[in-house]
Amino acid sequence: MNLKLFIPGPVDVEEDVLQRMSLPMMGHRTKEASKLQRNITKKMMKIMYTNNQILLSTSSGSGLMEGAVKSCTGKRAAVFSVGAFGDRWHKMATSNGVPADLFATEWGSATRPKDVDNALSTGKYDLIAITHNETSTGIMNPVNEIAEVIKKYPEVVFCLDTVSSMGGTKIEVDKLGVDICITSTQKCLGLPPGLSICSFSQRAAEAAKKVENRGLYLDLLALYEYIQKKDHQYPSTPVLSIMYAMDYQLDKILKEGLENRFNRHAEMANYTRQWAKDRFELFPEEEFASNTLTTVKNSRQVDISDLNKRLKEEGYMISNGYGELKDKTFRIAHMAERSLAEIQELLRVIDDIIEGNE
Ligand SMILES: *Cc1c(COP(=O)(O)O)cnc(C)c1O
Repeated sequence: MNLKLFIPGPVDVEEDVLQRMSLPMMGHRTKEASKLQRNITKKMMKIMYTNNQILLSTSSGSGLMEGAVKSCTGKRAAVFSVGAFGDRWHKMATSNGVPADLFATEWGSATRPKDVDNALSTGKYDLIAITHNETSTGIMNPVNEIAEVIKKYPEVVFCLDTVSSMGGTKIEVDKLGVDICITSTQKCLGLPPGLSICSFSQRAAEAAKKVENRGLYLDLLALYEYIQKKDHQYPSTPVLSIMYAMDYQLDKILKEGLENRFNRHAEMANYTRQWAKDRFELFPEEEFASNTLTTVKNSRQVDISDLNKRLKEEGYMISNGYGELKDKTFRIAHMAERSLAEIQELLRVIDDIIEGNE
């Protein structure tokens, strides 16, 4: 049975979009391939509000996150973490031999601009990694305020993980001064997993030129230079099927209208947060609660695996807490093509199950 997914990726993909994946293959060194990749690039520039070069990578979002710290850290990276994905970004650096320090807040709290300022003012760092939307804790960091601070340090490459927020909320890459803004297909963009996307600034390219060991497959400077030389083609074979679907889905996103799309996400988030506060508690600081998923504190000690088993019988799926937050929290994603009516329907079913048990 098809389950309606309310998990933070992979999300449900609409039938007409899925069908684009069955189009015939083409040569990846043809004019048609250049055109496809150029079209995707143009549309992603609109969604990201950027004039920077867009890079596509046949890897999930983690690929470009690892590529970014490895390709562009010359001295040392400051990795700010508000949960599991931030912690992982730090591990990506150290396991590649890239010098990096981890600045972690207590889970459920946001990154404070002042802490960013304190770290960068030491002059030790030439790259900073920030999680925009932390999918474990449900925190959406105050990126405008953080970006203002980072602007004081023009020698620092600003990397932003927007894997679970790009396409669901407004992130104005150029206005914020983000050098490498990273996302992937299977969350708010409403596509199958398998491709990651980032914007890549001139400053990031200059920084990468000074780094000796950038690796090969995830060398972002190599991708950047290759695209310019070969009209949007890539050094290795890209995941064409997802690109067919993506070219089509990005048109649908732009047709909905970005502001409409962001408002729809905000409405779903408001409704879910209110429900969470009425029935349970919110896990993250409310002021910084995410617009694309809600992490609920399991204050009623509901058996989450059992809840998901019962939801499955009704045709729905939510997520348990991530890592150490398993059973202490659960997560409801309200992203991509989900509607407010579907969220209301899910929460009614959860209410019925919980009340029936008590
Ligand atoms: C999902 C996610 C990732 C990992 O992305 P993949 O595409 O699964 O590699 C990284 N960061 C955040 C915030 C995420 O939600």
